[in-house]
Amino acid sequence: MPVKQAEFLVSNSDPALCPPPNRPEYAFIGRSNVGKSSLINMLTSRTTLAKISGKPGKTQLINHFLIDKSWYLVDLPGYGYAQVSKTEREKFATLIDGYLTSRPNLLCIFVLVDARIEPQKRDLDFMSNLGERGLPFVIVFTKTEKLSGPKLQATIDTYRTTLLEEWEEAPQFFITSAITSAGREEILSFIRPLNEAYIKGKK
Ligand code: GDP
Repeated sequence: MPVKQAEFLVSNSDPALCPPPNRPEYAFIGRSNVGKSSLINMLTSRTTLAKISGKPGKTQLINHFLIDKSWYLVDLPGYGYAQVSKTEREKFATLIDGYLTSRPNLLCIFVLVDARIEPQKRDLDFMSNLGERGLPFVIVFTKTEKLSGPKLQATIDTYRTTLLEEWEEAPQFFITSAITSAGREEILSFIRPLNEAYIKGKK
């Protein structure tokens, strides 16, 4: 079932100012230019909900969207600009940390990785960090229409092998493309039962 309504709520740099954690929430994060804005627009069937970045290094904000009046989609800042200073990186880490530790309603973090690029330390470190804190996450491969089936499979296998070196189980993954809309139904079908379980648990 496609998204019917998507509404921008608030952008802020202070996790304490995020909307009250009273609805199921899903956060999207990845390195700058991974295709996060494009994926959010594709998932919500909007062309301009999230801004497609022209240039990396914009203000680092936590953006909340309300979807179908029932769940929050959160666009987190992109990480890993090579050119940002140590202070900027620390500010980013504090922001993300503050966010991750203040959202009891956060049901899953979607970590985006460009399917054309081999596993990067920055992505793997971020996933390890989530795993250590027991925060649920899945991997979203972006721009997959650029790869042939066997090449895509090789990328997935590399991630799986790399993650299994550290963890007993590899996280679930989604194959997506903002160009072909691949993965939209799969991701929305993943979110729906989590929303239902959350609401049941609250009753
Ligand atoms: P963000 O910085 O992570 O929000 O990334 P954007 O959504 O702004 O996309 C970065 C660049 O990748 C833009 O030039 C997009 O047009 C391109 N892009 C995003 N998604 C896809 C995709 O699925 N396939 C292809 N081929 N390009 C994409």
